Amino acid sequence: MRVKVLGSGREVGRAAIAVEDSGGALLMDYGVNFDENDNPIFPEHIRPRDLAGVVLTHSHLDHVGAAPLLYVSHAPPLFATPVTLDVTRVLLYDMIKLNGQLLPFDEGVVNEMLGRATSLPYREEVELGNFTFKLLPSGHIPGSAGVLVETRRRALLYTSDVNVIETKLTKPADMSGVRADAVIVESTYGSTNHPPREVTEQRFISSLKEVVESGGIALVPAFSVSRGQEVLTVIAERDPGWNVWVDGMIREVADIYVKHPGYVRLYGILAKALREYNVVRGWQDRKAALKEPGVIIASSGMLKGGPSLYYLKRLAENPKNAVFLVSFQGKNTPGRQILETGFALPEEMPIRARVEWFDFSSHIDQKGVLKLLKELREVQKVILVHGVPKAQEVLAQKIREDLGLETLAPAVGETVEI
Ligand SMILES: [Zn+2]
Repeated sequence: MRVKVLGSGREVGRAAIAVEDSGGALLMDYGVNFDENDNPIFPEHIRPRDLAGVVLTHSHLDHVGAAPLLYVSHAPPLFATPVTLDVTRVLLYDMIKLNGQLLPFDEGVVNEMLGRATSLPYREEVELGNFTFKLLPSGHIPGSAGVLVETRRRALLYTSDVNVIETKLTKPADMSGVRADAVIVESTYGSTNHPPREVTEQRFISSLKEVVESGGIALVPAFSVSRGQEVLTVIAERDPGWNVWVDGMIREVADIYVKHPGYVRLYGILAKALREYNVVRGWQDRKAALKEPGVIIASSGMLKGGPSLYYLKRLAENPKNAVFLVSFQGKNTPGRQILETGFALPEEMPIRARVEWFDFSSHIDQKGVLKLLKELREVQKVILVHGVPKAQEVLAQKIREDLGLETLAPAVGETVEI
């Protein structure tokens, strides 16, 4: 069995891993990154006609955004959990709306691709050419999965983005006891540990309380897929009686989540939040949200656009208000700018509102990776992907020291024999 890293080698995002055997190739993820000018960066090319199938692990653009490229002239079978398929459609349509002129495919291709999809629940085994594979819960976002791929001689576990803690929307990854000769694991936070989730939640809620009870509005810019619904559920679980508004793609994805109760941990609380809180459906609602003290949860998470930017412009000047960032803030994004300088570009708007950042990461940290690896059986090789070289070096060292396992961090284009 050969593993070819087509993307996410010594970098975060752009996940694309091909497993090759004499009988063909199975592709796991085909994601896209965007550069500073929003130009797409695709993974290395692979010939669609060589593919026995494509597996999508979860509905984040850096895992699914380039997949339609494979369906322009061919149609390999596609596999993903039902939630992943539903959210992927919304996500890809949105990407085409925003960046359509830079992409070599359109909605028609996305529809063709999803027309080839098999909706695959966790743990159901699929036989495809020389491969047998199944999806395992990865605890990253609702519907997310790792993939256990087996051939006659070898077994490989690709965790994809994974998390081993419980969140409002997900149970921890369930991979313990899995037997695999090699594991491909993400290393996004390979050199750090996250604070305990209850501590972050507690701090988040008490900060919101201070703002709302002193008459301010707290803007919570959040990613549309999972993070927005997670913070909504964190608030709804405590039922604090505030005015809560939800705006942007967050609500569309939340609607999909409540259609898949089996994949969402506190499904009932999320469903209740959608019924009882204010869902913004137009400009009148947007104005109403700005009239009274409360909380506005809005896409996009890094304030690059979408309704969160609209609200920021109207809330930033008043020190009674707050901007509470709950997502990773990429380089050169307005969110990062605000944290570092107190100004939001491009208008150099001064932010007088209170600004705070909360670690709601859905990625496994260093101690999480060690825990996950310890619970697997017969692993001989660990392959790190989806991380910058610095974090990978620290994590690789730790895995070698603590577990004595051979650990590699292949670059994009490299092949590893298993
Ligand atoms: Zn992800």
